[in-house]
Amino acid sequence: MMHCLDLAGIGAGPFNLAVAALMREQSLSHRFFEAKTEFSWHPGLMLPGAMMQTSYLKDLVTPVDPTNPCSFLAYLVEKKRFYDFLHAEQRTVSRCEFADYLSWAAHRLKSVQMGSRVHSVLDQGDHFRLDVQGPSGRESVCARNLCIAAGKKPHFPLCSKPLLSDKCFHALEIALRDPDVNDKRIAVIGGGQTGAEVVINLLSGHWGRPAQVTWASRRSNYLPLDETPFTNDWFTPEYVDAFRQLSPHRREEIVAEQKLASDGVSPATLTQLYQLFYRLAHLEGDSERVVLMPNRELVAMSCRGDYQLQLENHLLGDTRGREWISADMVILCTGLSEALPPCLAPLQERIPRDDHGRLLLDNAFATRLEGDSGERRLYFLGTGRASHGIAEPQLSLSAWRAAQVVNDLLETEVYDIRQTGNFMKWITPQTSRVAVA
Ligand SMILES: Cc1cc2nc3c(=O)[nH]c(=O)nc-3n(C[C@H](O)[C@H](O)[C@H](O)COP(=O)(O)OP(=O)(O)OC[C@H]3O[C@@H](n4cnc5c(N)ncnc54)[C@H](O)[C@@H]3O)c2cc1C
Repeated sequence: MMHCLDLAGIGAGPFNLAVAALMREQSLSHRFFEAKTEFSWHPGLMLPGAMMQTSYLKDLVTPVDPTNPCSFLAYLVEKKRFYDFLHAEQRTVSRCEFADYLSWAAHRLKSVQMGSRVHSVLDQGDHFRLDVQGPSGRESVCARNLCIAAGKKPHFPLCSKPLLSDKCFHALEIALRDPDVNDKRIAVIGGGQTGAEVVINLLSGHWGRPAQVTWASRRSNYLPLDETPFTNDWFTPEYVDAFRQLSPHRREEIVAEQKLASDGVSPATLTQLYQLFYRLAHLEGDSERVVLMPNRELVAMSCRGDYQLQLENHLLGDTRGREWISADMVILCTGLSEALPPCLAPLQERIPRDDHGRLLLDNAFATRLEGDSGERRLYFLGTGRASHGIAEPQLSLSAWRAAQVVNDLLETEVYDIRQTGNFMKWITPQTSRVAVA
């Protein structure tokens, strides 16, 4: 009789690594399957100088289990760089160092099986059967519960899809493509952190010397990530608890309102950009080399040797002026969207969703298959922005969320994640709910 795991994880990026780290000492059997043969964290966007947007203390474990051997501080101590790190007085670390920390943690966790892609998951009544292509061949794995954290997929504007090529591509893989931009007119679409980092690297000559860089953003300007103290309170367990009490419609409104708390450009990156533009325009007399076009939405594209991009100018309001630009290369910094991995296709129809197709997850990020009378749980991490709020696709609460998963799975409070609350009273017990017509 085949051994049945209590938990199988699909993917071993930071979200499932947090679960693996917190499951380390637990009695339940568990394995995490990762398709990559070597650990890497968004290698296609590992650009020179890229910094984390989140404190290193919001690592895999520290917020819920600071003595866990997979903490960032344990990494620093083992690497013998604790004092140097302290003296460098950094509020955040480089993405490169954080990726190295994650890789170090992945190597320490025996439950993480690299080079193992889950091809399909089948329902077998009281358990799941995973078809895994591992380092030593095909394996059939039995598991009672699943924890799915397989990442997101690149988002492409509709009009760009028929034209994708090695000259029109999503930025997610740019560092691996290493494009030759010499003497080319480059259009960068998207005004978030990725767009900003791509523009900096284009103008710094990382991929050659482009003839011109046009940077279009749908946003009204190149807007900052809000990382001020009260905004940071949106990334706390208490706020998620309050958010969970709201109606789906209200949650949707709030997620849209809070966009810049999670998707803006780091203020330090904006300053770096402005200084770069100043130098080009005023000290190097090269003001034509960069064109900034905020308020512009890419609405149409064609390719006749080079690319023609039609942009809609939202500054003009309802009249919506149209503008055309030409480019030899188009780099789409248009974000990522939530997606379930293809291996879940056999279960797809039975994963509960609301009328808008959004996953219906409980407080512990779990759901059960429709029609399943048993106790089997499917945990989904990083795909619940609509159900759990803007912190969900971020690292900020990943340790806390992993602790929720572990407590739920073990049906006991392995980790005490109750909060005492601070001065922010998002909702009080006395809040009376009066429907507004
Ligand atoms: C460039 C970049 C920088 C970011 N920086 C920050 C930041 O500073 N702060 C912050 O809070 N958030 C940041 N984020 C957002 C978020 O924290 C990350 O995207 C994070 O990596 C999400 O973790 P994850 O484990 O869900 O997904 P991923 O890191 O994408 O990992 C998913 C893993 O699942 C594996 N996988 C997929 N399918 C299968 C399968 N069928 N079988 C086996 N394995 C599979 C993949 O190979 C992958 O390794 C950043 C995102 C990006 C893109």
